Amino acid sequence: MHRLIIRNAIVYDGSGSPGVRADIAIDDDRISAVGEISSEAAQTLDASGLAAAPGFIDVHSHDDFQVLTEPDVTHNVLQGITTVIVGNCGFGAAPAESAQVQMRAIQEVDATFEPWSGYADYLETVDRNPPSLNVAALVGHHTVRRAAMGGVEKRPPSSDELAEMRRMTAEGMEVGAVGLSTGLVYEPGRYSDTAEVVALAEEVAARDGIYVSHMRNEGDGLLDAVQETIGIGKAAGCGVEISHHKAVGAENWGKVTQSLEMIESAQSDGLDVTADQYPYTARSTMLFALVQNGTFGSGSGGAMGRSSPDEVLLCSVPDDPSLEGRTLQSFVEEWDLTGEDAANRILKEHGNEVLVAAFGMDEGDVRMVMAHPSTMIGTDGLDRGSKPHPRAWGTYPRILGKYVRDEGILSLEDAIWRMTGFPAKKFSLTDRGALKPGAFADIVLFDPATVIDRATFEDPRNGPDGMPHVIVNGRFVIRDGKHTHARAGRALRRNMA
Ligand SMILES: [Zn+2]
Repeated sequence: MHRLIIRNAIVYDGSGSPGVRADIAIDDDRISAVGEISSEAAQTLDASGLAAAPGFIDVHSHDDFQVLTEPDVTHNVLQGITTVIVGNCGFGAAPAESAQVQMRAIQEVDATFEPWSGYADYLETVDRNPPSLNVAALVGHHTVRRAAMGGVEKRPPSSDELAEMRRMTAEGMEVGAVGLSTGLVYEPGRYSDTAEVVALAEEVAARDGIYVSHMRNEGDGLLDAVQETIGIGKAAGCGVEISHHKAVGAENWGKVTQSLEMIESAQSDGLDVTADQYPYTARSTMLFALVQNGTFGSGSGGAMGRSSPDEVLLCSVPDDPSLEGRTLQSFVEEWDLTGEDAANRILKEHGNEVLVAAFGMDEGDVRMVMAHPSTMIGTDGLDRGSKPHPRAWGTYPRILGKYVRDEGILSLEDAIWRMTGFPAKKFSLTDRGALKPGAFADIVLFDPATVIDRATFEDPRNGPDGMPHVIVNGRFVIRDGKHTHARAGRALRRNMA
């Protein structure tokens, strides 16, 4: 007698193998059997017509605080995400005071929790206050740099400060963080040189973690930045994950052909280098960072590529939500200013926490990166304001509907591998990302014929169609398309079940 049996699903095991019709038995928090199951269960779900896959692992999350302050994390679980890896782009969760100041630029952090000092406390706080999905963490470079140096310092750290940054990185890795992230276009990470990052990556390499980077340049200097990132992995001796792999600005379109070749060449040298991607041609970030990186100025367009004012949408304006959804171009016209001056006036009037979505990538590049075997999937979601970039709500169903079913860029089993088994392996998540006996029962059920994202730039905060059930550690968090509010998640620690 099993606790739950899912009957007649087409089971994709997360390894890249094609689907097979099978039943799935679940007892406690694990899968106990997959196949033709004759025994009975306390509860049965008929999954005829549905595919069953391991729950999706979002390798690029910024929900470090959201998992505690909004434990339903509805935008994630509705799209089949059962594990988030937080701490990306250098924005990490610990120590809490430094993290709150740093994170406020991109996320809401009105935490009511006892502040945690290090990653041990952060992960324990998640375990004591479980959200609806699992949480694994990267150590964030900005956060430890800010804590060790006492703020945003435009200089290299002293040897004592670097030692403190190494200690904080080591603390995180010792208690189960999965790696270190940087965001070398943002403050304060942009003021670090390669040697500083290598020093911290050594602490990660010594504990079998990986180095994850929002690189120093995704525009004109993309290829140099890929070189630096691969070089850091080689120098420190750890695997590398290139975050949100892309080339921004029309003058840089097509450069992903070369960046993909550089990844292949590093792989053939024996380096474990991979990347992740969200399936859209717009990025989303702080307006402040785009201005600081020269996005609207004359010249090269700097580290985040160029966008014209009509390609920029305001996602979140905390002190005046009525502006959300407007284009930068509408301010250019209203105020009769250049794009850069209009952006600066918005920042002056509304503060540096304004988030935007900015088109600037090529659809052909998006497809080429997606089809390459080095690419896994991550949302980079920032569910803030009334018009967040739709990737926070639609990434996984968009891949499964638009790119798998409608356009045939990936086979279904390959897409599922890039959402499950591949990230579980890369980020050392034991017994996750696989739908097989003994693995944790993180499962998503969807209809391959109808699954599709419904999150658009105009109306982003919508879950998908065709994804009725999501199970985390054996418990339904989405049932018949509705959130059960089950707090079924837990903190995950590197290489620990
Ligand atoms: Zn980033």
